[in-house]
Amino acid sequence: MIPLFKVEVPAGAADRVTAVLDSGMLGHGPLVEEFERQLGERIGNPYVAALNNATSGLQLALRLAGADGEVLSTPFTFEATNWSILAGGGRITWVDVDPATLNVDLEDLAKKITPRTRAVMVVHWGGCPVDVERLARILDDAEAAHGRRPVVVEDCAQAWGATVHGRPLGRHGNLCVYSFHATKHLSCGTGGLLVLPDEESLRRARRLRFFGIERDADRVHADYDVPEWGYNFYLNEIGAAIGLSSLAVVDERIARHRANAAYYDAELAGVPGLELTARTPGLDSSFWLYPVLVEDRDAFIGKLAAAGVAASVVCRRNDAHGCVTPSAEPLPGLEAVHDRAVNIPVGWWLSDEDRAHVAHTIRSGW
Ligand SMILES: *Cc1c(COP(=O)(O)O)cnc(C)c1O
Repeated sequence: MIPLFKVEVPAGAADRVTAVLDSGMLGHGPLVEEFERQLGERIGNPYVAALNNATSGLQLALRLAGADGEVLSTPFTFEATNWSILAGGGRITWVDVDPATLNVDLEDLAKKITPRTRAVMVVHWGGCPVDVERLARILDDAEAAHGRRPVVVEDCAQAWGATVHGRPLGRHGNLCVYSFHATKHLSCGTGGLLVLPDEESLRRARRLRFFGIERDADRVHADYDVPEWGYNFYLNEIGAAIGLSSLAVVDERIARHRANAAYYDAELAGVPGLELTARTPGLDSSFWLYPVLVEDRDAFIGKLAAAGVAASVVCRRNDAHGCVTPSAEPLPGLEAVHDRAVNIPVGWWLSDEDRAHVAHTIRSGW
């Protein structure tokens, strides 16, 4: 089976992990700090806090944003995005999806911002970036109209390597969260990163990831105070060791995802019953996923499975789950895509023969 995801730890990771195990320091330590330094350098923003996973990062970001009221969000995402809002006591207002990109529809989002909106959650689905520059202008207008500016949280869990006009996500003044889960482009096994806009919010995030306690607090003499309670969300040395090894191979792996995507763009254009998602100049996807829209999705998945190719929907529209309130208004963009969207393997593990086999199987019909 050609899989949709593949977990392969780079050579050298085991030696780094063994060194950590021998060091006697497994919690927060020098490797986490080195990992943070390298990540900050790559993003071009030094204000980063490594965490135990991205779901923690989303919860922490929403806490920093004071988002215990109305939060605008997309239903087309992995459940971690939206359950993080619920975990922080927020109320979700669903925003429609742009059928061309499967990302949030920025026009609908602009209409739904009210004076009560505390935060706006956007997801760079499959690694395809939301136009965060346009989003900033929408928030400028909302601020001018309502006298307050909702905080933007970007779920970049799938988008390591994606860029907006050449700049990585995490440089646009928002709270950004990357996932380093085993299946993501950059992996710590499990891990995450919160990227912040300034030094002050970084200091607060670093306290809140460790119970609200300053790292250098004098806990021997109990001569310290916790002014604001926090969580147990920090990354450990084992995760950082794996992450540092992963950093050495991530660029070449993403380059292969992109090359495979370009191949499919050419080979699958015009196939009857199949639509590609939009490519927008300046918004460069890292292609963690390669989503397409197909008629008779079950037959499509079945045809590929019979040919040894894993295809998957990956997520269910979140607004349809029993634990949330459905949208008060219709979501026509979502309706147009939610039962046609499916992902085909695009990762670095596909050989030239593999991707030709996938394209040929699809072109032969289902
Ligand atoms: C993977 C993922 C998450 C959660 O990441 P973890 O690191 O596993 O917590 C959140 N949002 C999206 C869109 C994801 O794909």
